[in-house]
Amino acid sequence: MSSRAPHVLIIGAGTGGMCLAHGLRMAGISVAVYERHRTRTDGLLGYRVGIGPTGNRALRDCLPPELFDTFVATCARSPRYFNVITQTLHQTASFELRPDIDPVNADRSVSRMTLRQVLLTGMDDVVHFDKTCTGFEQHDDGTVTAMFADGSTADGDLLVAADGTHSAIRRQYLPHAHTEDAGSINIAVKIPLTDHTRSLLPDRVRQGISLIFATHGIMGILHVMEFRWDQDGSVRSGIGSADAELLERWPGLLYDNTRDYINIILWSTARKFPADVMRWRGEDLVRLPLELTRGWHPNLRELLMHSDPGSVIAIKVATSEPVPPWQASTVTLLGDAIHTMTPGRGAGANTALRDAALLCGQLKRAAAGDKTIVQAVADYEAAMLPYGFARVADSLRNNGTSGDDRLYRPVIGRLSLMAARGYFALTSRVPRLREKFVDDLYTYRGAEG
Ligand SMILES: Cc1cc2nc3c(=O)[nH]c(=O)nc-3n(C[C@H](O)[C@H](O)[C@H](O)COP(=O)(O)OP(=O)(O)OC[C@H]3O[C@@H](n4cnc5c(N)ncnc54)[C@H](O)[C@@H]3O)c2cc1C
Repeated sequence: MSSRAPHVLIIGAGTGGMCLAHGLRMAGISVAVYERHRTRTDGLLGYRVGIGPTGNRALRDCLPPELFDTFVATCARSPRYFNVITQTLHQTASFELRPDIDPVNADRSVSRMTLRQVLLTGMDDVVHFDKTCTGFEQHDDGTVTAMFADGSTADGDLLVAADGTHSAIRRQYLPHAHTEDAGSINIAVKIPLTDHTRSLLPDRVRQGISLIFATHGIMGILHVMEFRWDQDGSVRSGIGSADAELLERWPGLLYDNTRDYINIILWSTARKFPADVMRWRGEDLVRLPLELTRGWHPNLRELLMHSDPGSVIAIKVATSEPVPPWQASTVTLLGDAIHTMTPGRGAGANTALRDAALLCGQLKRAAAGDKTIVQAVADYEAAMLPYGFARVADSLRNNGTSGDDRLYRPVIGRLSLMAARGYFALTSRVPRLREKFVDDLYTYRGAEG
């Protein structure tokens, strides 16, 4: 067993990589993060991510306490309702969610950019930007070298691939591990929340998260993101002096990503989209949701007309195949780098955070001399692989996230839509079923199995 304090190299300053970096630094373990983007605001996909009890727990365990409080304070107001609606704004079902009084047992929405900025706070000496990792070499003395596109290298005792779905490290380390196209495409738009756009939404939709089960094989989700800042970027009054002080101090305020907005994501099988949609940008891409939603309620279409053209993006949804266990070594993987999953259950970021906290715990034991680094990695991988790929399978089964879902078939699609709406309608109306549905929602989002 090496008696030297380990140095950990993390590739990717995303959700999982930065959570791990914080945890290691808090534990006094030397760590360096290498990120391909050139600045802290480059390349941010989408606008919103839902963090539930699993992700909250990991962040609480890895972040300095004040930074965890900052994460909680920078999340949007928690949704009060989970609604299921139709394309005509008819409410099929509405479930009241739990009040957001517990920092961990809550389901929160956060802007991806804000989450990244929270995770980068205070880490200037740890994160190296503009470093695209191209591969690695493992040495007989137990060390590992990461290689970068600019010709530089970095040496450490462990290399952690936190470099997302297209991981360069996974390609070299586990060439048999595959990610694949799930066959569906998402179009995400951001609509500024103004008095007018707010007035277009029914009360429960305005206060909640709404899943849209529409006809003709179109699905959607609508989130209203309201923060603790007003439209001028000043901290709103009445949020409590401790939180106001915390937010005034937070350097993330330097970046303008704190205004309220409505996030709508529409998705369907890729067959419904133009073949070159991934190359569409701006105004062209804004027109696409309007074409997909012909015949929808005028208020929903008007919301889409207010989309910010600079923010609309098309996302090709990916998934991954389970990988059989392999012999542990001085290279490991976390998050999307190993178990890319569709957004079907909103679990990818939560699972990446869970991986980070689990690996951090194992590495602390290695640093304390309880086990070798390779044993710590083996124990981490033995726990991570089953739950990681269980989440991949769940996410593929949900809400038309697979392009081959029954919802997209000609006749059976209509029956599946009626069955799905019927299920939600019944569940929300029978008290026992309603309570179980909400319990299951929180249990799943906080699952440790
Ligand atoms: C539309 C959509 C909605 C979603 N909603 C949710 C949700 O509500 N809840 C949820 O839990 N999950 C959600 N997810 C999934 C979630 O976004 C991902 O699972 C999560 O971001 C994965 O985190 P990660 O740390 O593994 O990777 P990432 O956050 O993707 O980070 C990877 C990092 O590695 C960097 N990188 C890549 N290659 C290299 C390289 N060669 N060298 C150096 N750096 C590199 C990237 O620039 C990036 O910063 C959603 C996904 C999508 C597409």
